[in-house]
Amino acid sequence: MKVGFIGLGIMGLPMAKNMVKSGFNLVVYNRSMKPVKELNAIGVEAGSSPRDVAMKCDILITMLPDSPDVQEVVLGKGGVIEGVKPGMILIDMSTISPKVSVEISEVLAESGVEMLDAPVSGGQKGAIEGSLSIMVGGKKKIFEKCMPVFKSIGKTIVLVGGNGAGETVKLCNQVICAINIVSMCEGMSLCRRAGVDVEKMIEVVNGGLGASNIIANLAPKILEGDMAPGFKLRLQQKDLRLALQLAEELNFSMPVTGLTNQIFRIAEGKGLGEKGTQALIEAYNLLG
Ligand code: NAD
Repeated sequence: MKVGFIGLGIMGLPMAKNMVKSGFNLVVYNRSMKPVKELNAIGVEAGSSPRDVAMKCDILITMLPDSPDVQEVVLGKGGVIEGVKPGMILIDMSTISPKVSVEISEVLAESGVEMLDAPVSGGQKGAIEGSLSIMVGGKKKIFEKCMPVFKSIGKTIVLVGGNGAGETVKLCNQVICAINIVSMCEGMSLCRRAGVDVEKMIEVVNGGLGASNIIANLAPKILEGDMAPGFKLRLQQKDLRLALQLAEELNFSMPVTGLTNQIFRIAEGKGLGEKGTQALIEAYNLLG
């Protein structure tokens, strides 16, 4: 079985490497060439376009930033749709709008192509270690067929519903994570303003009921002044925007997510978008 992989960024590149380690035969494509060359050096075939990758594989994975990127790569000129054959499966692992995901699955179905939305959680660390949590939307039969692929990159793999349900669950995950990031930055800023040792505060909080993976992963980076992206701040803001769009479609209110989104937008407006989500602390620093 040949597997295509399009979108070799912070997440996609280590995911593709783990698939190679598990014995999958890959053909890859990315907009910039650096990660393609890196995989090429370990014997992975490079496709010349999304269309070319689609023509050469049975299962195709996309790991792209946002809904318009997936629409362009799958349905655009020179896109996946031009190279598909009936029986092929597209697994989109990007975090995008559930509505757009369903729309893409419907277009692909007209060409006999099945789609799963399978966004992930666990960050860059989870992608490197192959321990991602994968939330899948789609048909059970297709999910089971793709299980070996999922097992090569993830640990917790759950079919959560039909097409689009994986993206919906991922947006819930992102709401929970983003509010946790804001609360962590607010607590750390208050502690610093009060003149109490922030490192000691984090140590004791993370041993109690306030503990979280967000604090365990991001607070040490903040304390070291390491703002390099594991997850880019602008992508976290994108996920809040998508969650709020979904709430709007459902006529549902998410007051805390709305406020959290504004805080992330302020940080992005201050030029922090390409930094990691932990750089939100810098927006608090600006508040004085
Ligand atoms: P990234 O910006 O590091 O990588 C995106 C990659 O897609 C880049 O290599 C870029 O060159 C490529 N790309 C963009 N448009 C393209 C196009 N039209 N054709 C071909 N390639 C194109 O982003 P990332 O952090 O790897 O995130 C990817 C997705 O996974 C996003 O939806 C993000 O929200 C989600 N996600 C990220 C993390 C994380 O911790 N980084 C965790 C879970 C989910």
